[in-house]
Parts: sequence; structure tokens; C-alpha cells
Amino acid sequence: MVAPTNLGFPRMGGNRELKKLVENYWSGKLDQKALLAGAKNLRAEHWTIQKQAGVQDGHIPSNDFSFYDQVLDHLLLFNVIPQKYQGLQFPLEAYFAMGRGLQKEGVDVPAMEMKKWFDTNYHFIVPEFTENQQFKLATRKPIEEFQEAKALGIKTRPVILGPITFLRLGKAAKGQNFDPISLLDRLLPVYEELLRELASAGAEWVQLDEPVLTFDLPAEFKDLYAKAYKKLSGINGIKLLVANYFGRLGDNLEIVADLPINALHVDLVRAPEELDAVLKVAQDKDFILSLGLINGRNIWKADLDAAIATAHRAVGLLGSDRVLVAPSCSMLHTPHSLEAEVKMDKQILDWLSFSVEKLHELVVVAKAVDNGEDSVKAALDANRKSMNARRTSPLIHDKVVQGEMKAVTEDMFKRQSPFPTRAAAQQAKLNLPSFPTTTVGSFPQTKEVRVARQKLKKGEWTVEEYDKFIKEETIKCIRFQESVGLDVLVHGEFERNDMVEYFGENLKGYVFSQNGWVQSYGSRCVKPPIIYGDVSRPNPMTVYWSTFAQEQTKKAMKGMLTGPVTMLQWSFVRDDQPRRDTAFQLALAIRKEVQDLEKAGIPVIQIDEPAIREGLPLRRSDWAAYLHWAARAFLLSSTGVKDDTQIHTHMCYSDFNDIFSTIQALDADAITIENSKSDLKLLTAFEKFGYTNGIGPGLYDIHSPRVPSEEEMRERLAEMLKYLRKELVWVNPDCGLKTRGWPETERALSNMCRVAESFRKAK
Ligand code: GLN
Ligand code: ZN
Repeated sequence: MVAPTNLGFPRMGGNRELKKLVENYWSGKLDQKALLAGAKNLRAEHWTIQKQAGVQDGHIPSNDFSFYDQVLDHLLLFNVIPQKYQGLQFPLEAYFAMGRGLQKEGVDVPAMEMKKWFDTNYHFIVPEFTENQQFKLATRKPIEEFQEAKALGIKTRPVILGPITFLRLGKAAKGQNFDPISLLDRLLPVYEELLRELASAGAEWVQLDEPVLTFDLPAEFKDLYAKAYKKLSGINGIKLLVANYFGRLGDNLEIVADLPINALHVDLVRAPEELDAVLKVAQDKDFILSLGLINGRNIWKADLDAAIATAHRAVGLLGSDRVLVAPSCSMLHTPHSLEAEVKMDKQILDWLSFSVEKLHELVVVAKAVDNGEDSVKAALDANRKSMNARRTSPLIHDKVVQGEMKAVTEDMFKRQSPFPTRAAAQQAKLNLPSFPTTTVGSFPQTKEVRVARQKLKKGEWTVEEYDKFIKEETIKCIRFQESVGLDVLVHGEFERNDMVEYFGENLKGYVFSQNGWVQSYGSRCVKPPIIYGDVSRPNPMTVYWSTFAQEQTKKAMKGMLTGPVTMLQWSFVRDDQPRRDTAFQLALAIRKEVQDLEKAGIPVIQIDEPAIREGLPLRRSDWAAYLHWAARAFLLSSTGVKDDTQIHTHMCYSDFNDIFSTIQALDADAITIENSKSDLKLLTAFEKFGYTNGIGPGLYDIHSPRVPSEEEMRERLAEMLKYLRKELVWVNPDCGLKTRGWPETERALSNMCRVAESFRKAK
């Protein structure tokens, strides 16, 4: 029997029930009992969905549920509680305080650091260890959830973060200097105890997630893995499945091959080229192989014929009892189900598969291999029909776009002149002072702005009424910027809900789900737009608002666009062409927008690329290829203008050491970067490599309502000038002001402008 299995199910619920539960608990509307009961119901519902879909008993995941984040769950499980949270009520109060901070009478603790989970948009809480960390089994969550499912007649496979991944993703507590991996010996006995407990509760399989195996690992990790898994194997007969996902194992396959484990999960969506190598290992070492065949990271229906063919090959070599079919990774990264998508174009809807639908795909693959394709004929026929419709759909394939892509020439990746010539032409036109001031784009999206958008959406307001309101907001924002003396103004982005969605809605090739929520962090979910086809720009997208704004002022107005790599990174993308090709199509559409803005008389244009750094591949050896096409996509979008049009870009990242040459290659006339929270020493990269273009490291942090004093910003700017040539320096906040209120924004920007003024006088 080839078993259909799962690695993890999205925990939010079809209507984001979990979000509502925890948010109501935080605001005091629900008590703890109600929170726990609600969560229990949700888990039961999710297990039942999986069981009814036909996922094999014993391979339905448990402990994939989390109130906030699964890594945070492990911190409580193993008693890794930083000092400042230790006085809090355990577990729930401490748990949420670690995740999101806590302010109440006598208590004021910040949240722990959050980081992106591998190359996803999910954020995890970064474990923080002390050098003499004492581990113990402090909660019973995995055991209790196993028992909870068992009581419902469902046998689950508890999902636990593997010990090496757990330590590798962590960091030493502040002021301590040691590598968390050195704690392995102390941690392992607690894992042993946990496995023993799970075994006595009746678990047959445990899934140990070890996705750090997709990273480049230091040589000593081979021994560490061997040591760890030798200890963990064979505990009361419990079987271990080690799961790697998000990429190839590469040279780490050698590490895994020697482990005394029962099953290995591999991501064949990301690394199909590894099939032969993993089959050989499975054969030699007598492993069961879990084939990650259905994409857990994207929303397209799987090509079931291809998946079945792969499964057949594995069965041919290993026998059907040694093959499991699985999603490539946990389904945490895809939305719950398509059920609510009643408004979407039926043709496009037919190409999609969210988590619930993916379960059915897994089951069909397993049945086809076991009982022959005839046993699932209807499902396979339907899948072939969808696949074929998608491959040949005129909705996807746009001859005009394809012709334009072919017509792209090398000179479309270059500005007409080098930076010094451009800078002189721009200065002649803009006549900016030294230390020019600007902002990153958005101004406070107040409640009134959001309500106005709702009214338009619900039909309570006409487009005219809405536009009138947005115009008034824009004018107010411009008057304010003039009053504090900013040099390059922005229109404030009041007409935009979100920096990707706004453009997606105006581009062809994009579609939006109604309910395609994916957890981003804690209770926060995002609904990534879907790029289904060739991307083009039927009409100008921002020219109307930018022109309106420019007409209100004599100062230079900056047009605001989202760059191609960020559009790509924050959407679900097509899987029928390389990401690079989609990025180039987006770039071409943005290039036209840039040229239209120039024609309309907008002298400065900013193309935001906050996500360029987070798109970096997990393996260093893949970086160069990615950075090369990412930079070229930006260049294609930005270089179609005259010398005297000034191109800005913005990135939400501060450690540029890794990607410095890419930043230089973008050849923007100015870049603003998020730098205010981090050490200014990071700017040494710009000094060391001699950055030649304009640069504005954020002078203050916009993520907090705190108003920085003039004194503070003056010191910061002085410090920056140790690393940067003053002719190149721009003065700006570190990101958009969208999430801020007006009062603090007014004070902060007015202080900021006074600081720039004082530096001008001083020179
Ligand atoms: N222009 C955008 C804004 O100001 C940039 C946001 C971002 O970097 N994430 O909101
Ligand atoms: Zn930013």
C-alpha cells in the first residue's frame, strides 16, 4: 500500500477562526477556557477533514497546530524561556508575551525577535539560548494533541522540530558568545523523553522536521546529526521520519544517508533532479521514502500524471510498502480551501488547488499507484482536462507580451549616461539643497482612509465621492510636507490598500482570491495575489494620482511604484515558466509606467524593492544567478528614462554586506534603506566598496510611535557621515509611514527636516 500522508495542515481555519479566537482572547472578549475549547474544535475539524479525504491513519499530522508559531511552541516545550518572561504565568501568558510582548501593570516586556521561515513569508520566533541553558519537558503539547486526536479515533503523526534545526535556527542570548549547537548534548535527553512519552501514548510514527538540511552546513554537522539520531532511534519502537523541505539536500544527502532512521521525506517539487539520488539511498539503507510531490508552497493543481509516474518509479525500486506520497512541505503556506472562491473566473478557478484540494490530489496519486489508474479515472480525466485547458488558455498566453519580451534589447538594461552625468542633469532640473530630504512614500493610513475604501467597496460611496476624499487627503499631505520643508515630496499613497495588491489589480495576468489567506506571523494573515498569466499593463496605473499631486505644488513630486522582484516575491506565481521570466514581464509593465510618469512631468520616480533580499535562495551557490536576474529585472523597469529623471529605490533591509554588488548594479540615482534599528556599522559595506550613487539610510524608526529628538537624529546623521560621502547622503525615515498616526509623523518629520537644515548650515 502506497500511503497518502501529510506534513502539516494550515492552522488558521477556513474562516480564519484561529485569528479571531486569539485576537478576542487578547482583547479580553474570550477567557482562557473558551480559547482552549475553540482551538480544540478547530484541531478536531482539521484532523477530520484529513481523515475523510483519505490521508492514511498514522500519517495525519498533529502538533502542527499553534496559537502563534510552532517554533515558539518548542521554546515552551523544552523550557527555553528567556529571563524576562520567567515571572509570567506559564504557559499561556509567557507564550504570548514572548510572541508579541506584554504591557500590563508592573510588566513591560518586548516580543522576541522574529525572522522569516526559510524562503517563505511565514515568520518564526527566533530561539534565544543561554550558555548554560537547562532543558526540560515543560509542556505536554505534542502528547496531549496526540491523545486528543486518538480520542476521536484518529491516529496522528506528531510533528516535532528536529533537534539540529531547533538549535541551528536559534541564537545566543544578548551579551553571550557561543554557538547554540554546542547545547546539543544537553538537549537530546529531553527529546528522548518526549519520544518515550509519545511512544507510550501510542504513537507509531514521529515526524522530525530538519529543514536546515537545505542550507550549507559546516562540516561538523555530519557528526552532530549522526550522534543525535543514534540517540533518538529505536526508542520504544517509535519510528522516525526525518523531513527536509524547501530545497535540495545536495551534499547533505550524505549526512542523512547514514542516519538510523525509518523514513526520509524529500521535496521533489523544489528538487526533482534529486529523485535518483534519494531513491538510491533509500534502496541501500532500507529507508521508507516520503515523496514530496504536491506543491505545499503554491496554489496550482498538480500534474497528477507526472506525480503518478514518479511514484511508480519509486514503487518499482522500493516496493509499495516503502513509499509514502506527501506534499512537498507543510501546507501551512497554502490557503485552506477553494470553497469560498465564488467570485473568481471559473476558468482560472479550475486550475487551482488549496490545501483541502491538495489532500485529494495526494489520495488520487496513491490510489492510482496502488489500484491502477482506472480506480480513479474520473479524477484523472478531470485533472488532465484542467491541465490541458491551462496549458493552452488564451487567458495565459498573450502574444503581444511575448513579442515585447522577445524585442527586449541589451540597451534596455542601461541608463543613457553614467551616474555623475545624470546627477548633474538632475541637479540642473531639481536644484536640491545638500542633504536633501524626502520620505519613503506612504503617509498615515488613518481610520478615515480605510473607512473611505470600505464605503467605495460596499457601494456606499461613488467613485467621485471617494476620489474627492482621496484628493483632499493628498492635498493636506502635500501642504504638510511643504510646511516642514521637505525637498522631494510624495503624494502619500492614500489611494492604495497595499503596495502589491494595488498594482496587481491594475495589471493583466493577476487574479485575487476572496479567502486565500496564509499565515504570516501570529494572528496576521496575508492574501497573496495570484499571477496566472502573461503580465501586461492595459492602462497607466499611477499617472492620474501623481499628476494630480504634482499640480498642487512647485516642489518636485516623486512617483511611487512597486518593483518587479517585490511584486513577484509577495504573490503566488505561475509554475509554468521560470520566476525570472515572470519578473521580466512585470518589469516591462513597470517600465511603461515609469515612462508615462516621465512624460507626465514627474521628475523623480521611486521603484520599491523591499523584498529583493528575502528572495535570496537558501544555498549560497544559487545566489549569484538569482541576484543577476533580480538586478536585471529592476534595470529593465527603471532605465527607460532620460538622464534628468531621477530614479529612487527603497529596501527594507539593513545588512547589505551580502548583496552589496547587486545594490550598486541597480544603478538607482538614490536608494533609501531601513537602517535605523540596526548598527550603523553596517554602513561600512558602502564605505568599503565605495558606493557611488545617492543613499539615504533611515534616520529614524517608523515601526514605533516614538518621536525621535533632533539631537538624536543629528548624532545619527553625523555618525553616518563617517561612512558615506556627504554629497551622496539623503535624509529620510527608514520606511513608509502608513502604520503611523499623524501627530507623531508631524513632529518626527519636522525634527528630521530641521536636522538636515542644520547640517547644510554647518558645512
Ligand atoms: N512606498 C512604500 C511605502 O512607503 C514602501 C513600503 C515598504 O518598503 N514596505 O509604504
Ligand atoms: Zn521599507
